[in-house]
Amino acid sequence: MTDSTEGSDNEQISERPESLLPRSKRRRFTPLKVANQIPKRRRKEIEKALEGSSGTPKKWSRQNGPKNHAFLRKRITPGSIRRLEFDLLSVDIGESWPIPITVVHGARPGPTITLLGAVHGNELVGPLALTYLSGPNFIGSGKAIDPDVLSGTIRIVPIVNMPGYKMKSRYMPDGRDLNRSFPGKPDSNTSYRVANRFWKEIIAGSDYVIDLHTAAVGRTNMPQIRANLAHASSNKIARSFGIEAILDNVGPKGSLRRVTNDADIACVTFEGGGPDELDPESVQVSLYGILNVLRSLRMIPGHPSRPSFRILASGSLWIRSDQGGLLDVLAPAGSFVDEGEVVATVTNPERPSESHDIISPTIGLIICSATNPFVTAGTPVGHILPVSKGVQTIRKRLDDDDCLVISGADGDPVWRDDDEVEDITVGGEWSGGNVDAEWSTNPPTDSDEEAAESDPSQ
Ligand SMILES: [Zn+2]
Repeated sequence: MTDSTEGSDNEQISERPESLLPRSKRRRFTPLKVANQIPKRRRKEIEKALEGSSGTPKKWSRQNGPKNHAFLRKRITPGSIRRLEFDLLSVDIGESWPIPITVVHGARPGPTITLLGAVHGNELVGPLALTYLSGPNFIGSGKAIDPDVLSGTIRIVPIVNMPGYKMKSRYMPDGRDLNRSFPGKPDSNTSYRVANRFWKEIIAGSDYVIDLHTAAVGRTNMPQIRANLAHASSNKIARSFGIEAILDNVGPKGSLRRVTNDADIACVTFEGGGPDELDPESVQVSLYGILNVLRSLRMIPGHPSRPSFRILASGSLWIRSDQGGLLDVLAPAGSFVDEGEVVATVTNPERPSESHDIISPTIGLIICSATNPFVTAGTPVGHILPVSKGVQTIRKRLDDDDCLVISGADGDPVWRDDDEVEDITVGGEWSGGNVDAEWSTNPPTDSDEEAAESDPSQ
């Protein structure tokens, strides 16, 4: 009897019309079919890396109870805020370059995240955002970062390259780029010593690192995240930052991001705005993103916000001037432009009646644009992510000037589930091997090998 009942049940199920079968949960947006994707080999690398990612480490389990946080030979008790100084150099006499660090050690166990600004001394979005984040608007009882509620530890370093910052320079006093000097060496040149000390004392004990940058001199960046998406934990915080543009690449040689990833520590670079300037939009978007990451890691309460789409880019195109003269940028960083659209004009004081148009070679999003009007033939004036699919989705987020309104720049967007986010991938390769390889106006670093890989923006 049992057998026959089972048999008839099976028959009934197989004969049931398709519409009566339990329906899988429908997505509100179908995934985009994108012709121009991240190359297949790279997609496989990313998928493989994500498969191997494990769950939460046991040391972050709440069952372990709170422990002191050992940092710079100090023991920081759970549920406390400490303001510390860290000397970039260890010397008995002379300048040791102390930098301020705020440590918030939560009452509950969890990961350690380190937030960095001004690894390049003249990039001031990081110092501004992280100074605000260290202050009473964000940290304290009942605030976004409440030490009694926080799970884990947040280390905030608003200015890493303090000597460069004081000189209003990207570089260290020995003329080297600190972000091409990691992991450094203790007995080598000044920059390498600073890099090595910083690496050992501040970075090596971190689980996650967010490094805030701006474009280099003469240009400005639309807010964007750069990450090696084939590094699982970096991929996670890149996405959870909650903004639209993610550029997939391995950091330049000697960069903090590359060396940190090599040590299997998550690291993403935020880029927004230009050097030597106050860029309120980038400051706001970076704060918004950091809080999203903290929420996503369950270090602070609340749901992370998500953008309505993401552009995952593995390549780009350059818009160059074919003339020499003075540039007038019509479509600045953040502009969404059509193929054939005039993005800038060039004039020359010797022939003021003539003006040359610079045309976009593709439909896409300009992620970086020149701010210095002096150009010669071949100078890049814009850096564009070609977009072939998802155009209507992107257009919904453009303002009256066809500039993308970055998530976080217009207040709190509505909370969205992650599976409702449309991933728009952009294929290709980074010309020169790096996102910014073609911007080349800075002096080379200390060796030909490094100069060849030099990417002056990160
Ligand atoms: Zn930088």
